[in-house]
Amino acid sequence: MTSINKIKSWGNSFLQLFYPRLCEGCSQALLVQEQILCVGCTAELPLTNYHHIPENETANRFAGRLKFEYASSLAYFTAEGLLQHLLHQLKYHDKQEVGVYLGQQLGLGLRETDWIKTIDVIIPVPLHPKKEAMRGYNQSNSIAEGLSDILNKPVNKTGLYRLRHTESQTKKSRTERIDNMQEVFGVRNATTLEHKHVLIVDDVLTTGATLEACALVLQTIPGIKVSFGTIGIAMD
Ligand SMILES: [Zn+2]
Repeated sequence: MTSINKIKSWGNSFLQLFYPRLCEGCSQALLVQEQILCVGCTAELPLTNYHHIPENETANRFAGRLKFEYASSLAYFTAEGLLQHLLHQLKYHDKQEVGVYLGQQLGLGLRETDWIKTIDVIIPVPLHPKKEAMRGYNQSNSIAEGLSDILNKPVNKTGLYRLRHTESQTKKSRTERIDNMQEVFGVRNATTLEHKHVLIVDDVLTTGATLEACALVLQTIPGIKVSFGTIGIAMD
């Protein structure tokens, strides 16, 4: 360690004494080497390890509905579970660093696969501009940035955009949700995405209607291939 880094390290330890960073899972003080979650909470994250299984449940939710290459999710999303809590912090408490962290964790798994090497660009599911302005950020962008850190792939935040805001989907049937997503998304600068393999990224996979709508509009671009990556997969 250089002396500058030693001083920085001491400085961080010193700051930790007075302003401890807290685990987003259990609120205990994090050790200097821990990020976002303590070791105990990291072990409790219900990982799917789907990246080792081509025909996993994430892929199954799209099977027969549209053409896609690969699909994976980082962890199981259950009501009141740790992942639900983390994504709530990301979406409603301005904790963009939680999104970056989760994106990095997804990236570390995907980095073990061969197919991820064929991805050219990461595309986060866009929010409607009004909703993004209200929240101040798009949570999927944070996840995409974390993925990009690990995979060294660029993020394209402008190629796909949301034409209208959809009302809450939670009380709708699957068919209603899919109808509700029709013509919600659009593409711009399509030529830059021609013949590219894109990884579309979202926070939680439920029915897959949102990701399907994104993929279908992207598939109007010649030669494009799509894959899906989400942090959670809802298991209700
Ligand atoms: Zn913890």
